[in-house]
Amino acid sequence: LHVPQPANEPVKEYRVGSVERTALRNALKEAKAETRQLPMWINGQPVFTERKLKVTPPHEHAHVLGYINEGDKSHVQQAIDAALRAREAWGAMSWEHRASIFLKAAELLAGPYRARINAATMLGQSKNAYQAEIDSACELIDFLRFNVHYATEIYKQQPYSPTGVWNRVEYRPLEGFVFALTPFNFTAIAGNLPTSAALMGNTVVWKPAYTQAYSAQVIVEVLQESGLPDGVINLIYVDGPEAGEVIFNHPDFAGIHFTGSTSVFQTIWKTIGQNIATYKSYPRIVGETGGKDFVFVHNTANVEEVVVALVRGAFEYQGQKCSAASRAYVPASLWEQVKVRVQETLKQQKMGSVEQFDCLFNAVIDKRAFNKITAYIDQAKADGEAIIAGGNYSKEIGYFIEPTVIQVSDPAYRTMCDELFGPVLSVYVYEDDLLDETLTTLDQTSPYALTGAILAKDRGVIDRLTKRLVNSAGNFYINDKPTGAVVGQQPFGGARASGTNDKAGSSLNLLRWVSMRTIKETL
Ligand code: NAD
Repeated sequence: LHVPQPANEPVKEYRVGSVERTALRNALKEAKAETRQLPMWINGQPVFTERKLKVTPPHEHAHVLGYINEGDKSHVQQAIDAALRAREAWGAMSWEHRASIFLKAAELLAGPYRARINAATMLGQSKNAYQAEIDSACELIDFLRFNVHYATEIYKQQPYSPTGVWNRVEYRPLEGFVFALTPFNFTAIAGNLPTSAALMGNTVVWKPAYTQAYSAQVIVEVLQESGLPDGVINLIYVDGPEAGEVIFNHPDFAGIHFTGSTSVFQTIWKTIGQNIATYKSYPRIVGETGGKDFVFVHNTANVEEVVVALVRGAFEYQGQKCSAASRAYVPASLWEQVKVRVQETLKQQKMGSVEQFDCLFNAVIDKRAFNKITAYIDQAKADGEAIIAGGNYSKEIGYFIEPTVIQVSDPAYRTMCDELFGPVLSVYVYEDDLLDETLTTLDQTSPYALTGAILAKDRGVIDRLTKRLVNSAGNFYINDKPTGAVVGQQPFGGARASGTNDKAGSSLNLLRWVSMRTIKETL
């Protein structure tokens, strides 16, 4: 088996006057000129319903992008039926033909669809051009290409055969259908969860978050143009719990590929547990969930590197990356310098619509997120915690919240423990000689272990911190921000309450979507 050696898709910069910037501007204009119907896609066909849900850009309530055609339980059943019907032919298709569909999808995203999918992500999810580019273009393309590469490596692995015996293994698809349940915050994740399971020969029912419904349509179009057979991936817009009632009671439910919040994942896991005797096989449960990602600064760190880790790590995409820094521990000896530089840096940046290309900060995803995050900010003010940057918000035009830094008096204060999923960074300033106590607090105040970063120059300290924080993060960064994992370079996933740590974009993840059959033949 030979597949093209994958390389990471280069990030385009959208500089003033560049061809790609013009293409993106045109795609934004086109998208805004039309109010789209967003149908479900079952067995390759669009499904329109009477239940229309308005989709507006998070940064501009006044504009209507389109209408989700919301379905009900009968559509979930139709999607399952379509997936089960498509299963045999898809699973039997030669590997290179399955793989080439996804490689073709990557080519389409890298070329003709790049501006469209980025524009959809910008408008639908309020990402600026750069954040959309690294997500819906580069990361999704990388997932598609690298997964083909990793799958090839898996299929090549065969057991040892002594003389007179031929041992071999088959990497069969799971017996049934896979349910992909995806979050709003990365178009790449929304694209990866159904396609990675499908690549391994499975057929899929895919339910994206409604807040990602708009860019989900472009993913479907790309897959169709790539030649994906009807019924292999079926997109439904059905309320989560309602969809769950049909999916998790179905005997052919074979696995869930989930990314989203810890509470939803735990609810789903319990339901699957309760229904376990219903299923023909034990379902694969793969989930990447919440986080409370940290930056730990040592007094040997470089202040400018700390400022970048805090500002970019906490506030890019309004802190709505699962990997975003949301709590920091800074030694008292560095804090004054760090604080001043963070304040200066944030003052230089603008917040506004994604259509103004110079705005680093845009809106948070929806009303629910806005209300939750601002309630925490208000409570912190009422509790007398020090707001050292931001703290203001407005939902008049869109859901805008200023990047907010709270210097907390207690390392166990609620904003140091809870996942807010927004542009709020809590900082605890520790006495330099209380390093060990602070590390213990860091490790124990949160149930999560997704990402974390340490900043220090002393190699002995780096060694010590790396060992001490061994279970605190699935993705650990040294002298960097805790965000920005690149497919093929830093396999991504968290432990503890942050997920099953099956590392999206790795062979470990793909192995969850196959069920091996071992064959021994006596010669
Ligand atoms: P969410 O949990 O609210 O939603 C995820 C999906 O589950 C959506 O499609 C939603 O409609 C659906 N859903 C909600 N309740 C359901 C139920 N009871 N039954 C079935 N489906 C249900 O998450 P979100 O707000 O879209 O995304 C943000 C969360 O995702 C954050 O917690 C973030 O940390 C996490 N996240 C984690 C990673 C990671 O790699 N660990 C990556 C991205 C996002």
